[in-house]
Amino acid sequence: MASAQHKTFALAAHDEGGVLSKFEIERRALGPKDVKIAIKFCGMCHSDLHQIKGEWGNSKYPMVPGHEIVGLVEAVGTEAQKFKVGAKVGVGVFVDSCRACANCRQGDEQYCTGNGILNSAVFTYNHTLPDGTLVQGGYAQTVVVDEAYVLRIPDNLDLAAAAPLLCAGITVWSPFLHFGVRSHHTIGVVGLGGLGHMAVKFAVAMGCDVAVISHSPGKEALAKKLGAHHFIVISDEAAKSAHARTMDYIVDTVSAPHKLQDYLPFLKTGATLCLVGIPTKPYELHAGDVLMQRLKVAGSVIGGIRETQEMLDFCGRHGITSMIETVPAAYANKAMARLEQNDVKFRFVLDIGGTLSASSPELEGA
Ligand SMILES: [Zn+2]
Ligand SMILES: [Zn+2]
Repeated sequence: MASAQHKTFALAAHDEGGVLSKFEIERRALGPKDVKIAIKFCGMCHSDLHQIKGEWGNSKYPMVPGHEIVGLVEAVGTEAQKFKVGAKVGVGVFVDSCRACANCRQGDEQYCTGNGILNSAVFTYNHTLPDGTLVQGGYAQTVVVDEAYVLRIPDNLDLAAAAPLLCAGITVWSPFLHFGVRSHHTIGVVGLGGLGHMAVKFAVAMGCDVAVISHSPGKEALAKKLGAHHFIVISDEAAKSAHARTMDYIVDTVSAPHKLQDYLPFLKTGATLCLVGIPTKPYELHAGDVLMQRLKVAGSVIGGIRETQEMLDFCGRHGITSMIETVPAAYANKAMARLEQNDVKFRFVLDIGGTLSASSPELEGA
């Protein structure tokens, strides 16, 4: 069935003030391979905050943020076969890519090099298409996405709590796979926030021995509740020497400035410390701290479509979702202000389906 463009209510920022307000946008007509999704929930990622405020220097306005999208399929294109109307689905950080480069062909669409530039995946928002159209994200009632870039959400997962899997979850899952994490490994998780708590849940479910490494002694109870076996406060020299050279892999999720040399001594010879957070200042790294034990300092960003689906299926089998605080659309500006203060455990999720419509109230703080 052909379908025309349609209007949908969204939350948009209009300048670097980053204030969100209700705004009507137009979604593209349903193409043959497209899926139209009625968005139920959308996670609020730290990168939404950075981009609505123009902090990465590449912001395009008006901007509808949101790349942790979950909802129900409302319509499918004439040639779309992957989903039926009513299916629970998700959309993550990108909605298309060149599909032809070596990375796309092997399922690493997040590293698409189709235009020969740094990254040419089509991001879910804050992205301009060649015809000048702005791609708009998931703080909106609907979205239209090619089925190849839409994920299946297992039926047993709470839809709202599954939303952060699409960015926070896959960001720590993908390097687990890439760097060969196995059930007999000891895994270190630096930082216990949106990303770190997912890393702990995944590693525990995989059967690993899991250590949370933190600056805050106050997080021990939470780490243990999530299933971590060890909790190491970085200022505790005795704990540091007890765990020296015990870890097969460390994922560093912290995006505040911190010292990598504090964490490298935990790694076994030849093991990897993988960065998934981006502090504003460059790290200092002494070559000796790395080369004396042939260590690797690596980095990783989100994940491909196939591995995102594998992660979601794993979450379905193990009943894993994110710890969230669900908030109404009208609260979005306040949630952003709290996010800026790290005042959330661990992700705000906007209740789009229940609280954003033509007749819903204007936002607080708009
Ligand atoms: Zn994100
Ligand atoms: Zn590509």
